[in-house]
Amino acid sequence: MSLEHVLHLACLVCGRDYPATGPRYVCDDHGAEGILDVRYDYDRIGLTRESLVADPDPTMWRFRAVMPVAADAVVPPLTVGGTPTYDAPRLAADLGLARTWVKDEGRQPTASLKDRASAMAVVKGREFGASVITTASTGNAAAALSGICASVGQENVIFVPESAPEAKVAQLLAYGSTVVLVAGTYTDAFELCMEASAEYGWYNRNTGFNPYMTEGKKTAMLELLEQLEWEVPDAVFVSVGDGSIIGGLHKGAKDAVALGLVDRMPRIYGVQAAGSDYLVQAFEDDEDVLTKAPISADTVADSISADLPRDRIKAMAAVTETDGAYLRVSDDEILDAIPVLARRSGVFAEPAGAAALAGLQVAAARGLVGSGDRVVVLNTGSGLKDVASAMRAVTGVGTEPIRVAPELSALKNQLEEKGIS
Ligand SMILES: *Cc1c(COP(=O)(O)O)cnc(C)c1O
Ligand SMILES: [Zn+2]
Repeated sequence: MSLEHVLHLACLVCGRDYPATGPRYVCDDHGAEGILDVRYDYDRIGLTRESLVADPDPTMWRFRAVMPVAADAVVPPLTVGGTPTYDAPRLAADLGLARTWVKDEGRQPTASLKDRASAMAVVKGREFGASVITTASTGNAAAALSGICASVGQENVIFVPESAPEAKVAQLLAYGSTVVLVAGTYTDAFELCMEASAEYGWYNRNTGFNPYMTEGKKTAMLELLEQLEWEVPDAVFVSVGDGSIIGGLHKGAKDAVALGLVDRMPRIYGVQAAGSDYLVQAFEDDEDVLTKAPISADTVADSISADLPRDRIKAMAAVTETDGAYLRVSDDEILDAIPVLARRSGVFAEPAGAAALAGLQVAAARGLVGSGDRVVVLNTGSGLKDVASAMRAVTGVGTEPIRVAPELSALKNQLEEKGIS
């Protein structure tokens, strides 16, 4: 196992370094706040535009030279990464933008971006000889860990709030995980998972705790930049709960600059639900995320419901260091964005995925993006994850199916009423 390109893990509060060898999570001096960042010796990393062109691997592991894994590490067989980035000219026209793309992470093997982090967790867990890998999740990180563990026969224990959407729980049960439905919130599930993993010595994938999750999620940005042929977009919109995805996107952009793949970063915009807007509050009021108290989150977009964003240090830096912003959208705006995204780009998103488009709509209305801008919307999860919300969304915009007796004449009457010929 050779990881010479990894220097160490650095505490984001005090800067203290830790060796990147064992299963370390947070800083000894700063506890849960002392999230660690993986630091690289970029001079030892030979990842270039040309080396990527020559690499036939379409998965996230094509970026392994700048990931905390050895060149010869065995990775899980599921195809994680390589998700499409679609040109969406009708969305661009709607919003008055030069270009708009939708990157569809709903196309991952378990149907959300979380597969990128969970694949990394399984590689690290197995490197560290874990008998059991565990996580707490609002649902998607759980489904991702569950599916990727299943692909390699890795035992795992998953903690989710009992309110998690049925599709996500069904995935966990189908993949054969030990599923713990916690009578409480995501925060309660998180705390119970932390206690259990400490008690039993399990390898813990928890978001904003395991330093390697950012390193998996960052591949979404590296991949996006490569797909856009290294022509850096002006802005990227992503929804934010714990803040780990947005932190990962920022890390990917920083890596790309450090490696000379691009010469600048896109502005990164984080979108939160009005009922789960910790980071928007902190951004607007210039509050310190290390001391700001938790809120009580409540939103239809379960994947971005977080009382205290676990990865808030990285999440705030992603926006402030790229000249982006945090934006707030209502649950109605989120639901309305589901059919807009689906109809104007063909991408079917769960509420948290559509929230990114709702945020872009707000940004366009405020003039934060305009006619000169090339903008990316990251859909983080498939609409099939939460069919109940999708049905609410289409009902909300007045879409109804045609109901007919099985007779052509009846159909004709109905079509005539709708003006379809
Ligand atoms: C997890 C998730 C998010 C938010 O990611 P964080 O890292 O928690 O900010 C957004 N959308 C979907 C679909 C997710 O699963
Ligand atoms: Zn520290």
